[in-house]
Amino acid sequence: MKTVDALILGAGAAGLFCGARAAARGRSVLVLDHARKPAEKVRISGGGRCNFTNMETEPKAFISANPHFAKSALARYTPWDFCDLMAAHGLTWHEKTLGQLFCDQRSGAVIQMLLDELSHARGELALEVEIGEIVFANGRFIVQSTFGPVSAAHLIVATGGLSIPKMGATGLAYQIARQFGHDIVPTRPALVPLTFTGAAHDAFSALSGVSVQVEARAQAGPSFVENMLFTHRGLSGPAVLQISSYWREGERISVDLAPGRDVRTALSEARDSAARQTLESFLSGELPARLAPHICAEVDLPATIRLAELSKVNIEILAQTLKAWRLTPAGTEGWRTAEVTAGGVDTNALSSRTMESRKRPGLFFIGECVDVTGWLGGYNFQWAWASAAAAAEAI
Ligand SMILES: Cc1cc2nc3c(=O)[nH]c(=O)nc-3n(C[C@H](O)[C@H](O)[C@H](O)COP(=O)(O)OP(=O)(O)OC[C@H]3O[C@@H](n4cnc5c(N)ncnc54)[C@H](O)[C@@H]3O)c2cc1C
Repeated sequence: MKTVDALILGAGAAGLFCGARAAARGRSVLVLDHARKPAEKVRISGGGRCNFTNMETEPKAFISANPHFAKSALARYTPWDFCDLMAAHGLTWHEKTLGQLFCDQRSGAVIQMLLDELSHARGELALEVEIGEIVFANGRFIVQSTFGPVSAAHLIVATGGLSIPKMGATGLAYQIARQFGHDIVPTRPALVPLTFTGAAHDAFSALSGVSVQVEARAQAGPSFVENMLFTHRGLSGPAVLQISSYWREGERISVDLAPGRDVRTALSEARDSAARQTLESFLSGELPARLAPHICAEVDLPATIRLAELSKVNIEILAQTLKAWRLTPAGTEGWRTAEVTAGGVDTNALSSRTMESRKRPGLFFIGECVDVTGWLGGYNFQWAWASAAAAAEAI
C-alpha cells in the first residue's frame, strides 16, 4: 500500500497549490484526480487568461453562512504572495478592471507553474484515477482508488463544487464531508446568468446582444456597477453574474439603467428644452438605442410620444423604471454554466486557521467545496490559494 503524509483529492487550483506547499515543507504528497488533465478550470478561466487574483481582496467579497470564516486564511496568504510566486516563475500580469489581475502568458502558464512547484518539491500527481471507499483506521485514512490503496496521515479534499459537470465536477467533497459528520450548507449555482419566462423572456431575447452599464442588486447583498447583457434566455454580464450569487428563487432583482445619473431631472429639463423630441429619441441618448423602445413599451407609452406630452406622472413612472427596474427571474442557467458553487461544506466544523475538520482531525477541506464563494473577478482563485496555503501549513 502506498503511504504518504498527505493525500490530496483533486488536482485543481486548490489541490495542486496545497500539494506544492506541503511538499515544499518536506511532506510526502500524492495528488489524485479523475480527470485526464489537471486544473481544467484554471485553463478556461478568465477567457483563457486566468484572472488569478484581485488586488482588492477583502472578506466582504466572499459569501458564506459565516462571513468571518475566510478572514484568517485571506489575511495570511494575500494576492501579493501569489504575484510574487508568478514573478519568480517569470510570469507577468495586468489589471483589467476593478483590481482584477490577468496573466499575460495565458492560463496554461499558471497551470505549468503549479505543476512545476509540485514536481520540484517532489510531490506526486496521478490523473485518471477513480476514488473509491475511504475509511479512517488506526489514526490514518485508507483510500481505495484505481491508483491502488493509499494510506495517509492527512486527507485534503479539494475536489471543488458542482459547477460545470461536463468538466468533471462531482459532489465527492460533500459525500466525504457527510461521511465524517459534517453538515453541508445547501448548494446552488452562483456567478450564473439569470433566466426569464413569458413576456420578459420574449423581450430580452429580442434584445439579445445589447449590453448596458447598470447598478444591479438582488434583495440581499450589495449592488454592483458593471455591464449587463441581454441574452436569448434572460440576463447575463458581470453585474448580473455578481447578483446571481445572492439571488434566491422567487425573489426580485432591481436594476438601475442609468447609474449615477438623475434621469428624472434630465427628463423634466428635456421636456422644456426639447419639447418636440420623441421619448424614444431621448431614451436613445441615455441607453443603448435598441433598449429605448423596450422601455417605452414597459411604461405603456408610445415610442413616438413627444416629450412635451409627458405628464408629471409619466415622468415619475419613467424615472422609477429607469432607476429601479424590478424584475423577477424564473431561474438560473444552472450548473451547466455556473462559474462557482455557493454553499458547500459548513464552515462551523472547520478551523478557519487551517481548514482542518473539527470532527475528524487530519481531514481538511479547501477551495470551492467549502461554503465560501467569492465575487466575480479573481476572488475565487484567491480563496483557492489562501485556503490551500492555510491547510499546507498545518500538514
Ligand atoms: C468558466 C469559468 C471561468 C472561471 N474564471 C475564473 C477566474 O477568472 N477567476 C477566478 O477567481 N475564478 C474563476 N472561476 C472559478 C474557479 O475556476 C474556481 O473557483 C476554482 O477552480 C476552484 O478551485 P478548486 O481547486 O477548489 O476546484 P476545481 O478547480 O474545480 O478542481 C477540482 C478538481 O477535482 C477533480 N475532481 C472532482 N471530482 C472528483 C472525483 N470524484 N474524483 C477525483 N477528482 C475529482 C476535478 O477533476 C478537478 O480537477 C471560473 C470558473 C469557471 C467554470
